[in-house]
Amino acid sequence: MQIDETYPEPIFDVAQLASVEMYSPKVDETVWFFTELLGMTESDRVGDSVYLRAYEDWYHHSLKVTFREEPGIGRTTWRTSSPQALRRRTEALSTHGVRVQWREGDIGQGHTADFRSPSGHAHSLLWDVDYFEASDEQASRLLSRPQKRPLKGVPVRRLDHVNHLVDDVTANREFLQDTMGFRLRENIVAHGREAAAWMSVSPLVHEIANLADRTGRSAGGNGSLHHLAFWYGFPQHLLDAADIFTDYGLTIDIGPGKHGATQAQFLYVFEPGGNRIELFGDTGYLIFDPAWKPLTWTEQNMDKSLIWYGSPLAREFTIFRDPVPA
Ligand code: FE
Repeated sequence: MQIDETYPEPIFDVAQLASVEMYSPKVDETVWFFTELLGMTESDRVGDSVYLRAYEDWYHHSLKVTFREEPGIGRTTWRTSSPQALRRRTEALSTHGVRVQWREGDIGQGHTADFRSPSGHAHSLLWDVDYFEASDEQASRLLSRPQKRPLKGVPVRRLDHVNHLVDDVTANREFLQDTMGFRLRENIVAHGREAAAWMSVSPLVHEIANLADRTGRSAGGNGSLHHLAFWYGFPQHLLDAADIFTDYGLTIDIGPGKHGATQAQFLYVFEPGGNRIELFGDTGYLIFDPAWKPLTWTEQNMDKSLIWYGSPLAREFTIFRDPVPA
């Protein structure tokens, strides 16, 4: 049998989105949103930062909320598949000409390698994490659940994905593919320009998406956040959450609805600090084909990629990071 030795060997060194740091000018209100409405648990509080996790997040935290005058994104942290994989990826980054800085990790996280993507987003790679340990009171009898399901709001189950606004989707996407092993699952190429890319290292369609920033605010390596997504897995929860958000005076951006790209059932809401948060109601679809060919939507069908069904996107969704003042 003839083996094609030129076939690009996939990289399985990055395993998972471990945590994301989000900036908020209103930390108390932001924490209220995540704990009271989305049922997350506070793990720690240090300086200007509050650490949170969802009830099926296994580690110390999946979200760090840090005070800043403006909403936005801090660090996006990836867990590798082994300590050796961590070494391989940091060496690959260095070979790629990327500056890697090591530090003792954040609370609940071990030795961490920091670097920036071409878009200017701060990324980290690590292997060592502290696992969440439930108190007797918190412990669930369901062995696959790190703690009991909380009784607050409509509790999210785990961190799902992050969407970075970038000035150049293609350059950033190629960087994530070449240095980290992300696989392109779907993208939008409109009028010859790549406007969005969904990438993953697992059967999920995406742990990270890049969306072209048309405001110009991401120019010059000043990467920002489009949204951060938490997972429900039950579409009904989107309706329940939308009901609560409306009752408590939050601004729903769009949804509940369904995207064509990723097939995600979604609800987008602005948390009180001004960041767009997505609630993911189902699994979308999963990819098991090792030779998956990226699916490309174009100007011919991109409306269906954005909204499969549900109300149309607000113009601001694809243009602006923040809600537009009335
Ligand atoms: Fe999303």
